[in-house]
Amino acid sequence: MIAPGATIGILGGGQLGRMTALAAADLGYACHVYAPEPDSPAFAVARSTCAAWDDLEALDQFARSVAVVTLEFENVPVFALERLARRVPVRPGPSVLAVTQDRLAEKEFLRTNGFPLAPYRGVDSAEGIGRALRELGGPGVLKTTRLGYDGRGQRVIGSPEEVEPALAALGTRALVLEAFVPFEREISVVTARRADGARASFPPVENRHEHHILKTTIAPAPIADALATEAMRLAEAIAERLGVVGLLAVEMFVVSGGRLLVNELAPRPHNSGHWTLDACPVSQFQQLVRAICDLPLGDPTPFAGAVMDNLLGEEVASWPELLAEPGARLHLYGKREVRPGRKMGHVTRLRPLAGALMR
Ligand code: AMP
Repeated sequence: MIAPGATIGILGGGQLGRMTALAAADLGYACHVYAPEPDSPAFAVARSTCAAWDDLEALDQFARSVAVVTLEFENVPVFALERLARRVPVRPGPSVLAVTQDRLAEKEFLRTNGFPLAPYRGVDSAEGIGRALRELGGPGVLKTTRLGYDGRGQRVIGSPEEVEPALAALGTRALVLEAFVPFEREISVVTARRADGARASFPPVENRHEHHILKTTIAPAPIADALATEAMRLAEAIAERLGVVGLLAVEMFVVSGGRLLVNELAPRPHNSGHWTLDACPVSQFQQLVRAICDLPLGDPTPFAGAVMDNLLGEEVASWPELLAEPGARLHLYGKREVRPGRKMGHVTRLRPLAGALMR
């Protein structure tokens, strides 16, 4: 067990790292954040190292200063994680990241282990995409295998004429074409897993996107209990199979007939789990700290329902009204530069738990 008082290393300096460091502080831990960007929001609340992912000396020094390493950004190069893992436990470990950093590897992992997902093909040419479109028998979503997030690196393709422009726009040939899913809703589950296999899942939430960026999370998702139970079971089984220590967020589509298809995995805190800060006995951030430090996992059962809205770009200017609104719980990330679509903060409003799934 890594007891309170120790220093936790966090790779990545965004708002997820910032909120993890704040939660760690609540339990008496110190944090050391490693990130390449000088203006990282997490630097303001922890000891910091600003260095490139391939700065081996900085990585070694960082490893010597911490008792355990976790991450808030899944595109840390695997060689950097392996370097750190020589000196200190890295949770989740390099092998988890090797799968989740690459969409094709992730889909192959899911498929070969029998988890449900939309049909897909790995493609690397216009001809390959044309063939895959015919095989999938309908419109498809073309996605880069790497570095896609918030809808970056993807294009919907309905007809062969759309292939060349999409290829040009995506600017890479490392691609996956996946069948377009006419989903009823999008949900996600954040599950925590300790090294000894102990686990705890927050209930599924519903996610609504605007321009491919998460705008609103409704917690718990207004779905049947049986479906919610199945979503949690699926997330826990995937975390177990992957060997995650820490958190795993599993995004899923609900399709007609109440079937679930896994869309994407993220082995870290997730935007759709921010509501847990205000509506659960333990937040996803504290749960991550508990999981990587081998502490007892907290109770993920919400004491309230919640609606979480991201404050994107200029929306953050509404902070004075949000502060004045009774019951609105405002979280700002301390980002100085406002850019369109940038996640600047979020606001959570509690709701009665209307017959929502309890566990
Ligand atoms: P992703 O980056 O894969 O999480 O995709 C971002 C968003 O694009 C998802 O949350 C969906 O709203 C949409 N999307 C992604 N893949 C598909 C698909 N195969 N069919 C329909 N919508 C999709």
